[in-house]
Amino acid sequence: MNATAYCDRCPARARVRAELPAGELHFCNHHAREHRDRLGAVGATLVILPGRPAPILSRAADRAA
Ligand SMILES: [Zn+2]
Repeated sequence: MNATAYCDRCPARARVRAELPAGELHFCNHHAREHRDRLGAVGATLVILPGRPAPILSRAADRAA
């Protein structure tokens, strides 16, 4: 499987895949963080793509940023 994917909101490499009932979206670290709450509200499952540490799902990381 080709792991190269790009953010659906900008040209950055995707770090997170959002699995939705209607399909998949990809987000970079920035946009995953920006849309995380909304995605959670619609029942999306956020999957961190392999090989690219992305601690965006941690609220502690948000506070540290
Ligand atoms: Zn992005």
